[in-house]
Amino acid sequence: MNTKVWVVDKSVNKSHIYPQVKEAAEVLKQNELVAFPTETVYGLGANSTSDEAVKKIYEAKGRPSDNPLIIHISDIAEVEKFVTHIPETAKKLMETFWPGPLTIVLTKKSGVLSKVATANLSTVAIRMPEHPIALALIEASGLPIAAPSANISGKPSPTKFSHVEHDLTGKIAGIINGGDTGVGVESTVIDCTSEIPTILRPGGISKEAIEAIIGAVDVDQAVKQAVINPKSPGMKYKHYAPSATMYLVNGSKNYIQHLISQYQSEGKKVGVLTTEENASFYHADIINVCGKRSDLSTVAQRLYDTLRLFDQQHVDIILSEVFPPQGIGSAIMNRLMKAANHQIMTEK
Ligand code: AMP
Ligand code: MG
Repeated sequence: MNTKVWVVDKSVNKSHIYPQVKEAAEVLKQNELVAFPTETVYGLGANSTSDEAVKKIYEAKGRPSDNPLIIHISDIAEVEKFVTHIPETAKKLMETFWPGPLTIVLTKKSGVLSKVATANLSTVAIRMPEHPIALALIEASGLPIAAPSANISGKPSPTKFSHVEHDLTGKIAGIINGGDTGVGVESTVIDCTSEIPTILRPGGISKEAIEAIIGAVDVDQAVKQAVINPKSPGMKYKHYAPSATMYLVNGSKNYIQHLISQYQSEGKKVGVLTTEENASFYHADIINVCGKRSDLSTVAQRLYDTLRLFDQQHVDIILSEVFPPQGIGSAIMNRLMKAANHQIMTEK
């Protein structure tokens, strides 16, 4: 398949971007796939009311069919078309954080959206993204757009046009090149179907920010275990993973250097994922700087690109520093734990 590319400058006003975006929207209306930038990562969009269109997402990504998709809208008023009821907590969250990196799970109205998109669940996950191109595309299509991250399943998510191009050229109808994304990690997913909402995935909006608006929320066990009890045997689920074996190292810089030297003595090519503050300390084959420890939002922005870089550098082992799991740090640690297949080494 020939993959068309539209180059769109997100900083110009909506009337200027409209011709290309309108063309991409026409492709979506024909039930074909279009990848587009959002403020979190690039999304792979399809008409979420069509089984035919949505199936193409699962095929192009190699995504397991039991993993439902987030439905993207361009106007809060659209939500009621897709859900049976909007609880007060959800209303407050939408008013505060939309458009933005927060996905809200609600009870689905049947017969509107493709069952394939929602993996046959009784609930649906909805988000209104805060990106001028994403919003213009959804609006121009006039459709609710199902969009997971625009990468091959299991690989790090795409934060640059080149990542999408690498993974999906030839497999989808088109890509809107709108430059780098902003937040760098996916949206926070919160289930508002229970009286006390539950965070299912940490992301761009922190638990602390959510609790400031609606009070205490729960955090799903799978998220907690990813941080607190990484050796839990049930967690075989690999995601965001570079090709090399990756370990998170919970210890001092000296301990990390000790591990680097040990692997090198075994003939391994060792890469380190570190930050601006610590990079000059290490002697390794590859040292990749992933943002500043003093500003974790920069680590989130750089995270997936850094993980992808290790693939190009053909390292055998990646040793990664860890981060405090508060604020955006919670999303960073969640993604790193999955990328490392929950392998963590702790200094004694
Ligand atoms: P992705 O778009 O690939 O970053 O992933 C979307 C995330 O939202 C996945 O973790 C899904 O399992 C989750 N998700 C989508 N729909 C639902 C739903 N109805 N209930 C719970 N989680 C959902
Ligand atoms: Mg994804």
